[in-house]
Amino acid sequence: MSQKRDYYEVLGVSKGAAAAEIKKAYRKLALKYHPDKNPDNKEAEEKFKEAAEAYEVLSDDQKRQRYDQFGHAGVGGAAGGGFGGGGMNMDDIFSQFGDIFGGAFGGFGGGSRGGGPRRSKGTNLRVKIKLTLAEIAEGVKKKIKVNKLVNAEGVTFNDCSTCNGTGAQTRVANTPFGAMQTQTTCSSCNGTGKVIGKKPSGADNNGLERKEEVIEIDIPAGVEEGMQLSVRGKGNAGPFNGIPGDLLIVIEEVPHESLRRDGDNLHYEAYINFADAALGASVEVPTVSSKVKIKVDPGTQSGKMLRLRGKGLPSVQGYSNGDLFVHINVWTPKNVSKEEKEMLEKLRESENFIPNPDGKEKGFFQRVKDMFQA
Ligand SMILES: [Zn+2]
Repeated sequence: MSQKRDYYEVLGVSKGAAAAEIKKAYRKLALKYHPDKNPDNKEAEEKFKEAAEAYEVLSDDQKRQRYDQFGHAGVGGAAGGGFGGGGMNMDDIFSQFGDIFGGAFGGFGGGSRGGGPRRSKGTNLRVKIKLTLAEIAEGVKKKIKVNKLVNAEGVTFNDCSTCNGTGAQTRVANTPFGAMQTQTTCSSCNGTGKVIGKKPSGADNNGLERKEEVIEIDIPAGVEEGMQLSVRGKGNAGPFNGIPGDLLIVIEEVPHESLRRDGDNLHYEAYINFADAALGASVEVPTVSSKVKIKVDPGTQSGKMLRLRGKGLPSVQGYSNGDLFVHINVWTPKNVSKEEKEMLEKLRESENFIPNPDGKEKGFFQRVKDMFQA
C-alpha cells in the first residue's frame, strides 16, 4: 500500500477549514469523480474513494481531532498497519454520503430514495487491548477473540416480493393534475430488498447469529492510552447480508515498572549514592527493551537531567523517535553506622563539602527551559 495522502490535501482545503468549506470541497470532488460521469475509469474511482475517506474523517469532529493529533494512525489509517487498508468501498460511500449529491445523480442512492436497495450497516464492535511499553515501542500483532454477529450458517436471502428486490415501493395516486408517482421505502423489507429465505435455527430475524472469532490485528508502534484504532469491516455483520460494521480497538497502556511516559518521551529516576555523585560512576538505565549504561561525571549534582536521544518511543506517525530523560537523584543515607558517622563528621568540616554552586548549576526551571530550547 502506498503512503496515504494528507486528508486536507486530498480535499484541497486548509487545516483550519470550516465544516461548510470541507463539505463544499468534498461535494465538488465527488461530483467530478462520480462513477456515473466516469464509467469504467479506475483512476476516477480511486479519487472518488480517496475523497470520501478524507471527508468521512474531516466531517466528523472527533475523528478530525484525532487525525489532527495522530495522523492517519489515529483514525485507522496507519500505513501498512492493517487498519482500513482497503479504504472505503462504494457501498459505504453511498450509504453514508449519498445525501451530498442532492439528487444530482438519480440512480445512485442520492437524495431521499434513489434506485437500488439499501444495504444496512452492522454495528461497530469495541474491544480494549492492553499493551506494554515494549510492545508499543515495536508495534505488535495481536490475536483477539471477539464475540460478534455473523451471517448465520446456511441462511439464504430472497428478493423481497413486495418491491421485487428494489427496496422501494411505488405508489400511484390520481390527482386532478393526472396520475402522480411517489416512491417510498418498502415496508416489508425495510428498504433492503431482501427477505430471509432459509432461516436456520440459530439465526435471528436479520439472518445473523453470534459467533466467536479470532481476529489478528496489527498495531502500529507509538500508540498510546485511550487511542482508538479501527479495523474496517471487522465489526458485526450487517442485517440481511448488509455491510459489516468496524472493529474499534481501544488502547490501554500497562504502566512500566520504572519508566514514565510523556508523549513519545520517557523519563527515568536514577538514584545514585553520594560517593558516586562525587567521584563519578557508571549507572545502568533501563530502556523499553533492554538496558544501557550511562556515565555520571564526577561532581554531578542531584537533579541533573541526562538526555538519551532516540531512546524514547517512536511517534505513531513514524516520523521520529522520542528521547529518554534520566533524572539524577543523589541518595542520602537514612541510617549510618558509628564508623560512617565518624567519617561524615570529618567530611562535614572539609572545605570541598561546603555548597558552592557556580553558574553552571542551574535551578530546575532554567534547565527545563534550556531543554526545550535545545
Ligand atoms: Zn421490499
